[in-house]
Amino acid sequence: MKASMYEGNQKIALHEIEPTEPGPHEVRLKIAYCGICGTDLHLFKGGLDYRIKNIPQAIGHECSATVDKVGSEVTDWKPGDRVVVRPLDYCNECVACKAGHSHVCANLKFMGIESPGAFQNFWTVHERTLHRIPDDLSLLHGALVEPLAVCCHAASRGEVKSGEYAVVIGGGTIGLMTALVLKYRGLKVVVSEINPNRLAKVQSMGIDTINPKETDVLEYVKNWTNGDLVDVVFECSGAQPALDTVPWLCHPRGRVVLEASYPHPMQYFFREHFMREVNIIFTRVYEAVDYEEALDMMSKNPFNCDDLISEIIPLGKVQEGIETCLDPAGKVVKIMVDCQSQE
Ligand SMILES: [Zn+2]
Ligand SMILES: [Zn+2]
Repeated sequence: MKASMYEGNQKIALHEIEPTEPGPHEVRLKIAYCGICGTDLHLFKGGLDYRIKNIPQAIGHECSATVDKVGSEVTDWKPGDRVVVRPLDYCNECVACKAGHSHVCANLKFMGIESPGAFQNFWTVHERTLHRIPDDLSLLHGALVEPLAVCCHAASRGEVKSGEYAVVIGGGTIGLMTALVLKYRGLKVVVSEINPNRLAKVQSMGIDTINPKETDVLEYVKNWTNGDLVDVVFECSGAQPALDTVPWLCHPRGRVVLEASYPHPMQYFFREHFMREVNIIFTRVYEAVDYEEALDMMSKNPFNCDDLISEIIPLGKVQEGIETCLDPAGKVVKIMVDCQSQE
């Protein structure tokens, strides 16, 4: 079978490898689609080499699939079942796992970084990572569940309530999907973004935008909320100029949810939060419940999933897909890899 493997030095190529037989609690999946994620871009540029044990390695983690073969102890799944994978491998023994927070396990391995990923014809995974795709959701759209679950988790971490005001900073894939989740949950949402292509995409999906290069975000927020300021800010840009605005945007006892990964030290003006007891909340990946919420949300069709898919490319073109995503023009929301089509 074919696998698209990261070789280091900004190189990804198709390799011929043997499919892995499923162990007793494992399931071999025939991968349908797998989205290219910001994490894959970071990995491609070498930023995660310290986490990859064996290069070359198959990467990718946002997939949909059908079950191909099940291990001897697997009872919940059978060949032909349509699934998505929650790509977290946790220890079940550390303090986080014992408290029920296995998504932030102290020994967490992210499948597609610390172990082989989904850009392959077949992928063998533990049965506990699987969620069933509802009948009315296609395999193509199912591959959007992983990034949507990131945003469902962020919304839950932010304890959002219907009717609240929210600013989302950054209109890339995660910012846009966060805004879609917040709107679905009944919040009033505006997205702050400077890239014209991203602004147009966010607007085309029915969400209001502000361009901080043209409009003062704090003034906008004051007018929008009759001077009250917003209940919650979602920071999805990871950019310092965004962090320079955030502390002023929400009201006393409001919440700031930091959704970016911040690989470098950043500056943040905490006094404004101290004065108003604003909570800063970090959010990372997802839990099983977030996958279920994302699947349920998508099967209710609150937005057109096709609007999020910019292009479908074959497994042999992952490198070109990543290079397209890296273009700062920001024309791409999600590139999907058809993992059964080689060329
Ligand atoms: Zn991802
Ligand atoms: Zn653990």
